Amino acid sequence: ATADDTVLRTEGITKRFGGLTAVNEVDVEVHEGEIVGLIGPNGAGKSTLFNCITGTLTADEGRVTLQGEDVTDWPEYKIARAGLGRMFQETRIFGGMSVRKNLLLAAQEGGADIGGLLRRPDDSLMERTNELLEYVDLGGLADTRAGRLSFGQQKLIEFAMELMAEPDLLLMDEPAGGINPTMLENLIDYIRTANDEEEATIFLIEHNMDFVMEIADRIYVLAHGERIATGTPDEIQNNQHVIDAYLGR
Ligand code: ADP
Ligand code: MG
Repeated sequence: ATADDTVLRTEGITKRFGGLTAVNEVDVEVHEGEIVGLIGPNGAGKSTLFNCITGTLTADEGRVTLQGEDVTDWPEYKIARAGLGRMFQETRIFGGMSVRKNLLLAAQEGGADIGGLLRRPDDSLMERTNELLEYVDLGGLADTRAGRLSFGQQKLIEFAMELMAEPDLLLMDEPAGGINPTMLENLIDYIRTANDEEEATIFLIEHNMDFVMEIADRIYVLAHGERIATGTPDEIQNNQHVIDAYLGR
C-alpha cells in the first residue's frame, strides 16, 4: 500500500449520542482493491462509524477523506455521487419491478428521464446489466419480478445494483445476515469476483466470523466505540485482546 492508493481514511472519528460515546477517535484506512472487515460486539459502534463515513450522521470530531478529498461535512447524496456505495442490512429493491429494471434504476443519475431509461435503455447499459446479472447467477431471472425472489437473491440484486454505479468503495453492513449457508458460499464467490474483476474495493461489517475471516484481507475490531485491534484475519484470531473482548465468548 502506498500513500495515494488510499480510497478511504478516517481520522479521529468521534460520535456521541447524549452521554454515550458510540465511536471514539477511530482511525481506519481502506486501500484500493482491498476487502476490509469491521467486526466487534453488538453496540460497538460499527454501524455508527459507517453512518459517519456516508454522511448519514455528522461526526462530532474527526475527518473523513474519500479518494484524497475531505468529505467530512458533505451531505450524504454528494458523498454517494463522489463514489461511495452502501448496502444496508434490509434490502431496498422495488419488488414490483423486474430484476433488470431494478438494475437499470440503480444506474440512473438524479434528474434523468426514468421512464425513457426503462423503456429504451442504451446498449451499453443493457450490456452492463446483463454482465452483472451473470456475475451473480441471476441472468435467467432478469425478467422476473424482484419481489418473487428469495431474500438471499434479493440481496444479490442489491449487490449488483450497487456495482452498476461502479463505486470507488462499497460499504456493506452485515451482508451475510439472514442468508442460508449455500447462498453464503455463493456470496463469498460473488464478492471475490467483484473484487477481482470489477476491482471493487469493499469495507464490510460482519458478525459471521467464518465469512469475514475467509473473505477479508484485513480487519478492524471495535469494542465500546474504540478501535482495539487491526490486522490480518490470522493476527486477529490470535490476538488475546480480541479473544477476550469478542471472539472468546
Ligand atoms: P453496532 O453497529 O456495532 O452494533 P451501533 O453503531 O449501532 O453499534 O451502536 C453503537 C451505540 O450507539 C449503541 O450503544 C447504540 O445503542 C447507540 N446508538 C446508535 N445509534 C443511535 C442513535 N441514533 N441514538 C442514540 N444512540 C444510538
Ligand atoms: Mg450495526
